Amino acid sequence: MTDKHNQGWHFDNSYQRLPGLFYTRVQPAEAEQPEIVLFNETLAAQLGLDSSKLKQELEIFAGNHLPDGSMPIAQAYAGHQFASFTMLGDGRAVLLGEQITPSGARVDIQLKGSGRTPYSRGGDGRAVLGPMIREYLISEAMYGLRIPTTRSLAVTTTGEKVHREAPFPGAVLTRVAASHIRVGTFQYARQWGDKQDLQTLADYTIDRHYPEIANDENPYLSLLNKTAEKQAALIAQWQLKGFIHGVMNTDNVAISGETIDYGPCAFMDAYDRQTVFSSIDRQGRYAYGNQPEIGAWNMARFAESMLILIDDVEEQALPKAKAVIQRYLKLVEENWLDGMRAKLGISDKKEQDVVLIQRLLDLMEQHRADFTNTFRSLTLQQLDTGVRLFQSKAFDKWYQQWQDRLAEQALSKEEAYQRMKQHNPSIIPRNHLVEEAITEAMSHQNYQPIHNLLAVCKDPYAYTKEQASYAEEPPDQPYTTYCGT
Ligand code: AMP
Ligand code: MG
Repeated sequence: MTDKHNQGWHFDNSYQRLPGLFYTRVQPAEAEQPEIVLFNETLAAQLGLDSSKLKQELEIFAGNHLPDGSMPIAQAYAGHQFASFTMLGDGRAVLLGEQITPSGARVDIQLKGSGRTPYSRGGDGRAVLGPMIREYLISEAMYGLRIPTTRSLAVTTTGEKVHREAPFPGAVLTRVAASHIRVGTFQYARQWGDKQDLQTLADYTIDRHYPEIANDENPYLSLLNKTAEKQAALIAQWQLKGFIHGVMNTDNVAISGETIDYGPCAFMDAYDRQTVFSSIDRQGRYAYGNQPEIGAWNMARFAESMLILIDDVEEQALPKAKAVIQRYLKLVEENWLDGMRAKLGISDKKEQDVVLIQRLLDLMEQHRADFTNTFRSLTLQQLDTGVRLFQSKAFDKWYQQWQDRLAEQALSKEEAYQRMKQHNPSIIPRNHLVEEAITEAMSHQNYQPIHNLLAVCKDPYAYTKEQASYAEEPPDQPYTTYCGT
């Protein structure tokens, strides 16, 4: 027996108590020459893991051997990808098991990029180092921004080449999630299971994520409502921080309400509702300004797959489901409006606020003002004269209206600016910095820029001197991300 027991793994595999159609037992592929390049000590501690012992057995994070108690599986799911429905599943991911943390939480530990599974279709089951570093960085930055997200525990290079347009270094990301149950998991159950399978999945999901609704009169309708609430809160947060997911397919919508599957995602620089980064999103379906509505579309797909549980008579289930979607749209708007008020230091509500907010956004769009830095400047009361937006007469007028609004509320100006600091990040992981850091890691094995970025993104509301040097805007040129393979 090795020391394994002391690493702190405490696994359960409750997903395997679901009917067999929901998963397949698999083994992660062995990496030729695993080397850990990123490791999240803080997260490891939160999970109850002993970092020093774990690092001696880093092969775990490449899939070369399994932690105690792990029974690896690939999960089955379906999904609407850019509106067309298809069978998917973990084609390059393996769920090692569910870690029970010292605080009693249950989280999935998943390897991404660890080889082929029965759901790989034509794919090689592998992942390239660059996109895995990117997921690690962006997901941890999202956590720093206090936006619900899956986390990243480690990135391990495999020592093997992965062939895309050219050979690239292969890597495995260790992802930590509240669960990997997606809208697509329900679509899969509805399409290929029977009613009992669907109900078993719904009951499992309620037990795992929303136990408080288990005894509701109609728990399945409540599940739909809860999920819609979480999505409304999540997507409003994305809008408020300028995050663009890039591939809001139904297989990338977690029922837990976490942001999941960081592929061609990025933070917006200049404010523009049409912003799209993903090279595969040619129609702009998942553009920044479309995200709230796409959320509704995805919730409608979730609702459809749940109708038979919501009411035996489908015609009676339909209006109930529709009401949930309407409620989602209302909630996302309300969350966004409250969040925008907070970004402007406003703590009470007036009907006219929406006009004030929209006016600012219109001006920002007109002048291609940087989203994060505009709010940062307002927060710091440093209206740089070099910024076109701040030079405009229309902005002066808006500024006066905003100041008048701040004077009307109970908060003092000082308190209002404090409030702004808690809601406007001083820094986001800017695309040009992320790319530079990844390039440096890939071409010189120099991870220092990545570590620096991770460090400044840890608490984006701290407004440190160091963060100021990362706030610089990129040259105004289009930026494209390629699907995270
Ligand atoms: P994603 O774009 O990461 O959300 O993946 C969409 C689907 O494609 C999922 O079912 C993935 O498991 C699968 N997939 C993505 N890349 C690969 C790959 N290299 N090999 C096998 N399956 C993949
Ligand atoms: Mg996905």
